[in-house]
Amino acid sequence: MIAFDKGQRAPPNRPSTASSTLRSVNREDRKLNHNHVHGHGQALAYGFPTVFGRGLLDEFRHFVNPPFLVVTMEDLWPIFGHHFEDADCRPYFCGSIEQEDLDREAASLGEVRAILGLGGGQALDVAKYFTWRLNLPLFQMPTALSVNAVYGQRAGVRVDGTVVYRGWAVPQSIYIDYDVLAACPPELNWSGIGDVLCFHTGILDWRYAEREGKIEDKWRYDEGLARQSLAKVRKIVDNIDNIRAMNDRGIEALVDGLKWGTSYHGAGWCPRHIEGTDHFLFYTLEKLTGKKFLHGQPVGLGVIVGSLLHESKADEMLDTIAGIGLDIRPEAMGLTWGQLEDGLRTMRAYVNEVGLWHSIAHDATITDGFISDLRRELAKAYAHRT
Ligand SMILES: [Zn+2]
Repeated sequence: MIAFDKGQRAPPNRPSTASSTLRSVNREDRKLNHNHVHGHGQALAYGFPTVFGRGLLDEFRHFVNPPFLVVTMEDLWPIFGHHFEDADCRPYFCGSIEQEDLDREAASLGEVRAILGLGGGQALDVAKYFTWRLNLPLFQMPTALSVNAVYGQRAGVRVDGTVVYRGWAVPQSIYIDYDVLAACPPELNWSGIGDVLCFHTGILDWRYAEREGKIEDKWRYDEGLARQSLAKVRKIVDNIDNIRAMNDRGIEALVDGLKWGTSYHGAGWCPRHIEGTDHFLFYTLEKLTGKKFLHGQPVGLGVIVGSLLHESKADEMLDTIAGIGLDIRPEAMGLTWGQLEDGLRTMRAYVNEVGLWHSIAHDATITDGFISDLRRELAKAYAHRT
């Protein structure tokens, strides 16, 4: 795990480096975000400029400063490379994402005047990292919406194999191409709902910690912020069919929720309204098994576990996840029930040991009854599947 002390309460993937409250926003942010108000009557800065459209891949050559670097994955280039033929650019295929390796790569890239990130979480994170190291303009085009990486300022890289979030990159713009996303394997996009539905359990944990008198002084409960997070959750619940179909409205609803990821920084690096038990289960399972997961599967399962522990809307969350098509049963993510049980029973010790912000996972005892309830609920929700 990365180095952070209990006083800072940083999660494994979100090292806390600043406790300052960043309450100022620029005019552009106000315009972009309709001047949402939270907390002490201040507007909250969040979101990056985002363009929705079609045929966007053919436009980069016309406006990105050449020669530019297309940071992508090797298996994506046969699909998208032809859009860059004759453009003054070259592809960079992501390999190691160890920080040391990326620093070396950044230093030897030669002449590059701009960065285009093209891909899922990893390519977009590496694009952010190079942007930071080389101080270049960044353009981002997700080809899948599996996580909210595109809407975070920091790059998820590794130090000795452990996830750390490093750097700072704000894209000139993010390009959401409806046709590119609709053509992506659907379960990759469905995975993205995990990073929105987790606001539901994040808020439950925030209220719980406040009620229990275990809230961090710097992150006192904020009803305005909570309400904004829950509105994003509502939008997913209201768009089950659209998201399953990955039609234009479904893509817009999902992007709107993922965009809220940037409010982690906008609220003064406060993660409380963004995640809780949902991601804590994921961290525990990752630590325990060393497996690489499709993000939305363990996080989505964590949303259900958290909702059951809080006894709040577990049915609605499960109907939403299963209705969209994302399969969060352990067997769908390569886990046995034994491994999941291990994870559930270990979670309490793990989150206390690591010093994650206080949640119901810190206190709740996972009983045999809880596990059989979870098993029954999951079986019911996916009964139509084989
Ligand atoms: Zn996440």
